[in-house]
Amino acid sequence: MTGSDFLIIGGGIAGLSAASRLARHGKVVLLEAEDALGYHSSGRSVTFSHFGIGNAAVRGLTAHSRSFFETPPERFSPTPLCRTQASLYAATEEMLGELDLMHREISHFTDQTHLADASEIRARCPVLKTGPDALVSAIVDPSGLRLDADALLQSFAREVRAKGSEILTGRRILSIDRAGTDWRVGTEAGDEYSAPILVNAAGAWADHVAGLAHVRPLGLEPMRRTIIAFDPPEGTHIADWPFVHTVRGDFYMLPESGRLLVSPVDEVPSDPCDAYPEEYDIALAASRVEEYTNLPLRRIAHSWAGLRSFVADRVPTAGFAPDAPGFFWLAGQGGYGLQTAPAMAEIVEALVTGGDWPSKITGLGVTRKEIEPGRLFAANS
Ligand SMILES: Cc1cc2nc3c(=O)[nH]c(=O)nc-3n(C[C@H](O)[C@H](O)[C@H](O)COP(=O)(O)OP(=O)(O)OC[C@H]3O[C@@H](n4cnc5c(N)ncnc54)[C@H](O)[C@@H]3O)c2cc1C
Repeated sequence: MTGSDFLIIGGGIAGLSAASRLARHGKVVLLEAEDALGYHSSGRSVTFSHFGIGNAAVRGLTAHSRSFFETPPERFSPTPLCRTQASLYAATEEMLGELDLMHREISHFTDQTHLADASEIRARCPVLKTGPDALVSAIVDPSGLRLDADALLQSFAREVRAKGSEILTGRRILSIDRAGTDWRVGTEAGDEYSAPILVNAAGAWADHVAGLAHVRPLGLEPMRRTIIAFDPPEGTHIADWPFVHTVRGDFYMLPESGRLLVSPVDEVPSDPCDAYPEEYDIALAASRVEEYTNLPLRRIAHSWAGLRSFVADRVPTAGFAPDAPGFFWLAGQGGYGLQTAPAMAEIVEALVTGGDWPSKITGLGVTRKEIEPGRLFAANS
């Protein structure tokens, strides 16, 4: 039996960023089922940080996290964690109401946006279809950030290890019991670990992990999202293209290492699993390329899918379970787990160690009540 101060289940961005904060207060042991960190959702994202997604709480957490990506602590990462890449939220005539609403919501968090007409849309991304039956207007946010997910995951892991804590891969948790004031977990391979505080950062499996501990589930819904990658026509310079997103949320496209990534912005309910792209969603992505762009799509170079897991109000959740002492939830990061990770990790540190709720986060309009799991049970009971 290996004892520690904090056990964390899950080696994605949530578990690793929380571990780096908790390692300042005691010994952390982080247990990941797969042989590699970030194998599931955290390694399948398109790694953008922007205000065009989520609700007000998510935007507040996103705003708070920006400074970490832009100016990380000294020696945190040998390479930059992000680079600036504009985002463009585009609308057809019939989406103008949604564009207006999104613009007002985004404007609470950035004053850098402006509205672009069809000619500016074409200037920024020449392959987009514009005109009366196509895109007519867009919000341009020049301050979008493209994150480096691998640098983030590895840097958090390095920081945890440097503080004398442990990250163990290939440790799938199959049992969780309460023994006195400790949580005791057992892995598939038969090892056992214990700590008074157990952080459940198991992504799409977080409700399943709670079930092992006989803790009431959050009602987490994993949703599959599909990405296709293809080559642009030869000689097309795509590197400076923005992250293009329709305000209705049925298409996004962004450049990546000389290729274009496109998603039909699908949300297909799924059991927690090693997600793979379905033919139907790949075809949908291709049809959206045809609908919104003039790009010829002759061959899909590759495709992938990952799970984005939400609770009912789509606000990421952190806090002790009301029904189980020492059992801490860190789940429901949805489609914004990377861009909100630094803020969520700071919240975890405050709540686990009994510190004050970070005042800067309150300043951005995000309250403890909105984040803690109790709100979900109150709403359900
Ligand atoms: C296609 C796609 C695009 C996305 N784009 C963005 C984006 O642009 N920006 C953004 O911020 N977010 C984006 N996201 C969302 C983001 O990827 C997630 O919110 C985030 O990765 C969730 O992190 P996590 O650590 O909670 O989950 P995960 O990365 O899934 O980590 C959970 C870990 O827990 C482990 N685990 C589960 N059960 C057990 C067990 N019993 N024992 C031990 N370990 C266990 C799993 O193996 C897994 O590694 C995207 C997601 C997808 C799928």
